Amino acid sequence: VVEMGQPERSVITTCAYCGVGCSFRAEMKGDQLVRMVPDKNGQANHGHSCVKGRFAWGYATHPDRITKPMIRKHLSDPWQEVSWDEAVNYAASEFRRIQLKYGRDSIGGITSSRCTNEETYLVQKLVRAGFGNNNVDTCARVCHSPTGYGLKQTLGESAGTQSFDSVMQADVVLVIGANPTDAHPVFGSQLKRRLRQGARLIVIDPRRIDLVDSPHARAELHLALRPGTNVAMLNALAHVIVSEGLVNQDFVDARCEAADFARWRDFVGLPENAPEVLGPVCGVPAEQIRAAARLYATGGNAAIYYGLGVTEHSQGSTAVMGIANLAMVTGNIGREGVGVNPLRGQNNVQGSCDMGSFPHELPGYRHISNEAVRHQFEQAWGVTLQPDPGLRIPNMFEAALGGTFKALYCQGEDIAQSDPNTQHVTAALSAMECVVVQDIFLNETAKFAHVFLPGSSFLEKDGTFTNAERRISRVRKVMDPLGGKADWEATVALANALGYRMDYKHPSEIMDEIARLTPTFTRVSYAELDRHGSLQWPCNDAAPDGTPTMHIEEFARGKGRFMLTGYVPTEEKVNNRYPLLLTTGRILSQYNVGAQTRRTDNVAWHDEDRLEIHPTDAESRGISEGDWVGVGSRAGQTVLRARVSERVAPGVVYTTFHFPESGANVITTDNSDWATNCPEYKVTAVEVARVYQP
Ligand code: SF4
Repeated sequence: VVEMGQPERSVITTCAYCGVGCSFRAEMKGDQLVRMVPDKNGQANHGHSCVKGRFAWGYATHPDRITKPMIRKHLSDPWQEVSWDEAVNYAASEFRRIQLKYGRDSIGGITSSRCTNEETYLVQKLVRAGFGNNNVDTCARVCHSPTGYGLKQTLGESAGTQSFDSVMQADVVLVIGANPTDAHPVFGSQLKRRLRQGARLIVIDPRRIDLVDSPHARAELHLALRPGTNVAMLNALAHVIVSEGLVNQDFVDARCEAADFARWRDFVGLPENAPEVLGPVCGVPAEQIRAAARLYATGGNAAIYYGLGVTEHSQGSTAVMGIANLAMVTGNIGREGVGVNPLRGQNNVQGSCDMGSFPHELPGYRHISNEAVRHQFEQAWGVTLQPDPGLRIPNMFEAALGGTFKALYCQGEDIAQSDPNTQHVTAALSAMECVVVQDIFLNETAKFAHVFLPGSSFLEKDGTFTNAERRISRVRKVMDPLGGKADWEATVALANALGYRMDYKHPSEIMDEIARLTPTFTRVSYAELDRHGSLQWPCNDAAPDGTPTMHIEEFARGKGRFMLTGYVPTEEKVNNRYPLLLTTGRILSQYNVGAQTRRTDNVAWHDEDRLEIHPTDAESRGISEGDWVGVGSRAGQTVLRARVSERVAPGVVYTTFHFPESGANVITTDNSDWATNCPEYKVTAVEVARVYQP
């Protein structure tokens, strides 16, 4: 893809980076993409964009793209280029051999949040109907699985409650564990517009993120809590609301389960949840916590936005439920300007969850044990489905190391780089007999693969993405797949080679099947998406134009349910050997593990991950700006360059994780959320020492 003058035609499609889901006009000359222009009619972005969606698309034709299927019998063998037929037949014969030898449950699949809804739907269908088990999981396991769990428990639906535009009606915005100006930039700009109009901002984050000091939009309160204490903070906020008479009793009485509320009120009202007790736990003055609770509860429309700083903890699900509790107790849910808003990281992480990528849920978040639902899918797919949940990704690794899990189909997900405790992941992959990786690049996971299937970028296929506001938007093909097949076609080929018949001519037929089987999607089709521009689910007979705001009259589960959120400190403790707490985040110009953005000119803005360290901690270790420092944890060690900064508090260090050389996941531990196994990326006890000066 090169800059090459005036375009001849354009195609409207959707950005494949973050969960904002900006709409773009891909301008073409011949079969070459000339530029990406933000679409002024885009319903998520209204003509705005950031430096990723606008400029970082050159990776699509980067020389590193692998465009030929490849196989090798042993990891020590060189890759051998083969035809598609040969590659999928080899993968299918290995899957069959392994299931015959080790049993039906010895293989599984991982769907990708970078791929379309239609593609993730097909992968989970292949696992359930073709493999005959429920061993399917998705990268949401390592990011927003606690959102799925926590919001389902409290509100009844595993999704955010609002449109992005809703923030323009907010009077108070509480941002917790999120950095929207870097990670969700177009929404971050919209939020700053609202703040400049007078909305008031509370930031709860260990780090002094840009929003804290943003000109004309600065935070009124920044609660710089210690990493790992979100639940303590949320309980202290709830304590103030309950003990100072700030409960919206009319809302609670009308909309929530009375017994659950009474139990929760008694719990958060306990003296041990007072800010004077939990403030020192969080490292935040009690008066700041009281001020934040009063502002959130009494400042008018109050909206909460949160990110991975909430979910990627050993109590990630508990914190999500704590956030929902706060919204319910103050009546800040069910209308414009309020709500509970998870800022989803990847372009289609909402969609991959919606499409049944979890081992316990069929599309539409319906539990696999539900006989009636299972029967519906059995009728449609012509198979018998297993009623018990399958393996989550970490369970697949454990089973591989235990010798019972032997083969994996991994689509568009670099688990060897993005999952925690890299040494553990690579040992598990090495123990498998057949790993099939489908990706656009020969990624880190492919080092352990026996079959490589060329993936297709978002420019090379039709489909849909679903963004953080449940907005389903069209992805339109701009160029032919460089490897000859779109990802959905590769899955179809693999299914057919396995003997499970799939027969789709176009992704629109897959969406039609999804709509037939998923009550929240029944009115979704490509024709309706073209007519509306996009649609927010639920989109069905009750809401034919979609649902921008959820839970208006009643919650998806009927009455809202307050959940108890006892604070359990993380097992990841500082001590004399590891006295600092490491937390992680992202930067504007780069994206996740950087597989795409590192292969674009965006490296001009950011070409390495650095370790932020407070001047006090730097000085006591003899560390200066730019020094190379060793970072060691109980899991491993790595080397980074230091950035001495007051953005982090003493005792806390911070890094981004966009470059594999930085080895951020070499040092993160195996701790994970109690409910979902989401890794505790955000809290690692470390020590830092100067290695050498440049
Ligand atoms: Fe929009 Fe996110 Fe893409 Fe930036 S990365 S253009 S904010 S969807």
